[in-house]
Amino acid sequence: MSDFPHPVAQRRETALKPNDETPLPLTLPCATLHPGMGAPISKTKASTRRRSRDTRPELRIRKALFDLGLRYRVNFPLPGFKRRSMDIAFPRRQVAVFVDGCYWHGCPVHFKSPRTNTDFWVRQVSLTRDRDSETNTWLREAGWVVMRFWEHQDSDEASAAIFSEVTNQDFPAHTGSR
Ligand SMILES: [Zn+2]
Repeated sequence: MSDFPHPVAQRRETALKPNDETPLPLTLPCATLHPGMGAPISKTKASTRRRSRDTRPELRIRKALFDLGLRYRVNFPLPGFKRRSMDIAFPRRQVAVFVDGCYWHGCPVHFKSPRTNTDFWVRQVSLTRDRDSETNTWLREAGWVVMRFWEHQDSDEASAAIFSEVTNQDFPAHTGSR
């Protein structure tokens, strides 16, 4: 059994290949890399942001859309990019939805650069934003409609906007009159 390389070490090596698209730190919780670095993320929220998928705001949006009868794909791969995916995708309508985390994607309202390792974190966020804009460009050129929301945005408003885009209809009002 000692013939096999340690699985974690192997994975890390793969992740650090120079041409890797996703910088390694983006996939790890801040606390793992820099305990006490003082990122503006509370302990409970940090655990939900560990992965970019299945964040709570995204789940709320998905539930609202599902309840309205829409069917979609989750983490739909971006053709040609090994590690990129759309958070919520409507492949036939070519509508791609992203719910961006306020911290990693550098929300103008909520991102504050931490006091320690400032350059590092600012650079990580900047890389993420570059990647986002590259993704947008790629999708638009391929004919997709790209919709991005911050995780702090009202999920009802986001759901309404997505519903209208996908169905070409207004979001159903709660009045019940038809
Ligand atoms: Zn925000």
